[in-house]
Amino acid sequence: MTNYYVKSEANDRGDHVVHSEECQFLPNEDNRKALGDYAKCETAMDYAKDEFDQVEGCQTCCPDCHDG
Ligand SMILES: [Zn+2]
Repeated sequence: MTNYYVKSEANDRGDHVVHSEECQFLPNEDNRKALGDYAKCETAMDYAKDEFDQVEGCQTCCPDCHDG
């Protein structure tokens, strides 16, 4: 299981990026929301969509959920 976070600040495409806790690009504590502990990034993405309309998996830590 992995802890996932979504970045509070959107990137320049308007996406809020989902990261795992071990990602080198994990945002600082004041710029992220904890999503919880999940086996797959797909599950974390579903929870991130409850928080923000536009979400995207991080290319580095969540390549299975990164689109494009
Ligand atoms: Zn990441």
